[in-house]
Amino acid sequence: MDDENNSMDDSQEEEIGAEELWRRHVQSNSGALQNLAGVSPEAGGKLYIIHVHFEFGGNWTRRRHGRYQFLLPNMHRKYKSAWHGREIVLSHMGGGDAKSFQSIPAVCARLKAVDPNGHVDWEPQPDNRAFRRMFVCPSASGRSFPYMRPQVGLDACHSKNQRYPSFIMLATCLDGNNNISIIAYAIVDRENEENWVWFLIHLRGAVAGIDSPKIQYVSDRCKGIINAVRNIFPGASHVHCTIHLQRNVKQRFGTEMEKFFKVLYRCKTEERYKHVLEAIREKNPECGQYLSNISPALYVMYAVHRPRFGHTTSNIVEIANSAILPIRSYGPLRMCIELYLYMMEQKAKQHRLSLTLNEERLTPYAARYMATQEEDAGRMRVRIAYLNEALVQSSTGDFVVTLLPECKSTCLVFKDMCLPCSHIIAFEREMRLSSERHVGVMWTSAAFRIAHLETFHPVDTSNLPISAS
Ligand SMILES: [Zn+2]
Repeated sequence: MDDENNSMDDSQEEEIGAEELWRRHVQSNSGALQNLAGVSPEAGGKLYIIHVHFEFGGNWTRRRHGRYQFLLPNMHRKYKSAWHGREIVLSHMGGGDAKSFQSIPAVCARLKAVDPNGHVDWEPQPDNRAFRRMFVCPSASGRSFPYMRPQVGLDACHSKNQRYPSFIMLATCLDGNNNISIIAYAIVDRENEENWVWFLIHLRGAVAGIDSPKIQYVSDRCKGIINAVRNIFPGASHVHCTIHLQRNVKQRFGTEMEKFFKVLYRCKTEERYKHVLEAIREKNPECGQYLSNISPALYVMYAVHRPRFGHTTSNIVEIANSAILPIRSYGPLRMCIELYLYMMEQKAKQHRLSLTLNEERLTPYAARYMATQEEDAGRMRVRIAYLNEALVQSSTGDFVVTLLPECKSTCLVFKDMCLPCSHIIAFEREMRLSSERHVGVMWTSAAFRIAHLETFHPVDTSNLPISAS
């Protein structure tokens, strides 16, 4: 709806008829509306257009950037009416009417039939008359997790279906080629601690090793998610999204404190962190108090224990939320099916890519990363202190590199990425050593291939039976 609002100022317009609009819409959205169960695109489209025409009049107009907009003489009403018509059509297309709720057990049964090792569950409201929540984790997703980066993003987003509002909860991770994968999803009636607990209990049951202390969770700080992770994954590290914290700081204490916060969360040593926090306390004691109440282990670079792979925010899950934006218009049943199909197509895409990486040792992403680091290493000056210790000088500063017993650099990049940084590479070049041995296994083509070896099975959701309950 927001996108449609944005085009209000466009001046170039082209009037077209309803039938023509639908024809073009179907052509440009292959798959989006055509596959909807029970209603052919022609029937669905006509229903939409007939409804809007007869109830509100007006016509479709093509805007300068190619989108179509339904225009009425009353500018304020046009969005509402077009939106309303769309909601009605979606519900007729199996998106959310009462019958679709009654088909949920049948969809779950079909998902289980095509994927017996997958994890599918659903629950109605206590009165048994409406949808409450459902959880889906296909077996191919669950089994690929050990070959992904040990970091899980959690987030919930609301559906855009105003007739049947619901929330989609997602658990996502990244593979060695920097692709975001949805591990599991749930569709729930509201975002609260109870539903997060329910989601995480199912996630734990569906994905082996996801409750290991080696896994790091990242999320924002709202609506019960922190307590839920603490209770269900007591050993896990759960870091906070720095963008969300930054927004909170800005909202409560203004833009000057926001600038200080940006320096604070990037601190690479405890000494520096204390120094910046003290400066914040002096400028704004309340802000200082607020930030000292949050443990630095939850967000400050030096103190976070597990690798974050360059992601200090929950963008690994928010990107997935944006990718599924069209799906968020449907009611719970349709949303569940479309999410499964979306994951299926993504998995097939990665599987195809994995077949082309037979010879390469690293994934394309890791290879590009290493090439940049190696190039930078060539511009650095290495001052050797001992066989395993050196000061590496670059244009961005001086960094201490220690090779043995544990390989590390004060730049903290290796700790964060599980890939050798330019400083380590520069030092090891001097020592006639190769840095390849430090590359984490998740960056190899072999791990990528195993992660995407198993694909999904398509599920046929036409002619769903309606349960009696
Ligand atoms: Zn470094």
